Amino acid sequence: MISIRHLSKTFHNPDGSTVTVLKDVNCEIRKGEVISIIGPSGTGKSTLLRAINMLEQPTGGEIIVDGENIMQKGYRLDLMRRKMGMVFQNFNLFEHKTVLENIIFAPMELLHTDEKQAREEAMELLKKVGMVQKADVYPSSLSGGQKQRVAIARALAMHPEVILFDEPTSALDPTMVGEVLSVIRHLAKEGMTMLIVTHEMRFARDVSTRIFFMNEGIIYEDGSPQQIFEHPVRSATKAFVNRIQKLVYEIDSDDFDFLQIRTGINQFCVKYNIASKAEQAYSLMEEMLFSHMRQYRPLTLRLTHAELSGETALDFMVEGLKESPLPDNDAVKDLRARVKVVEEPTVRGFRVKLLL
Ligand code: ADP
Ligand code: MG
Repeated sequence: MISIRHLSKTFHNPDGSTVTVLKDVNCEIRKGEVISIIGPSGTGKSTLLRAINMLEQPTGGEIIVDGENIMQKGYRLDLMRRKMGMVFQNFNLFEHKTVLENIIFAPMELLHTDEKQAREEAMELLKKVGMVQKADVYPSSLSGGQKQRVAIARALAMHPEVILFDEPTSALDPTMVGEVLSVIRHLAKEGMTMLIVTHEMRFARDVSTRIFFMNEGIIYEDGSPQQIFEHPVRSATKAFVNRIQKLVYEIDSDDFDFLQIRTGINQFCVKYNIASKAEQAYSLMEEMLFSHMRQYRPLTLRLTHAELSGETALDFMVEGLKESPLPDNDAVKDLRARVKVVEEPTVRGFRVKLLL
């Protein structure tokens, strides 16, 4: 359906400097594929999506859509854009139009669908994204998750052959990520061809037929979710998919700022979509610091989260220690009954890790 060959994009900054964001991108996208594009920020993922539907004029290479090079002079971009829906991070709804009006606008204007039919189709699409009851409200009264579901319905209203999603959930409150991902999952089941830039690793692994790992302006590795997430060939891919997020505090005496740590834990859990673990992390931290490991100072406290495996742990490291600092008492027995406790010597000392 789409072939991309040697695609490049260089931006010219106002100060005369240039930045080459896409170096040499090559790929084939076939009908029915669900491709997630992952990679560090600043590596050109958004630029690639925007180049594919010519919102950004590429500097070199070719983009062949249904057999035609869309970069050639005189190509009818308006016709090509009807085949490609785009869903943005910030929804881009028309604020002065109701939900229904947002959806019927393009089909009526560009496809000349008559109003009655456009409305009927729009209501069907709203049903699909669970937003029928909001047909007549304005976007300002919707939550972020609801806005994004409307934006997806609006893209579908043009009967696109492919939908491009640019981080559809990254502007959302974590509680609303799930509802948007579930709509996208549903589209994948129906066989919709999609290209999805996302930071949601587990979603990408579960929903995609193929993964592009972008790094330094190229598709650095391309493969099945199983290959990319479980057996990546290149070391940068491996490091990216297995990366572990960490929150670290040094506790050197008993007058540390407890409230600051609590706030830090909360923010960390919200950011990585594990808000439900915040309370447990906080109370275990308090229990460890003030009871089981009270006499061990200084110690290093860490909260870690592996996005792909979903493993979250709270650990306590004491330097120079050779054996577990945990006493063999009833309180610790009770702790072991509630959470999995891993005790491990490290090069620098001894670590007690609680799996949340
Ligand atoms: P990603 O989506 O992977 O985070 P982007 O495609 O948004 O990356 O951007 C890649 C790089 O291109 C960034 O360093 C960004 O600053 C630069 N860039 C993007 N758009 C422009 C632009 N219009 N002018 C200049 N530089 C840009
Ligand atoms: Mg981006």
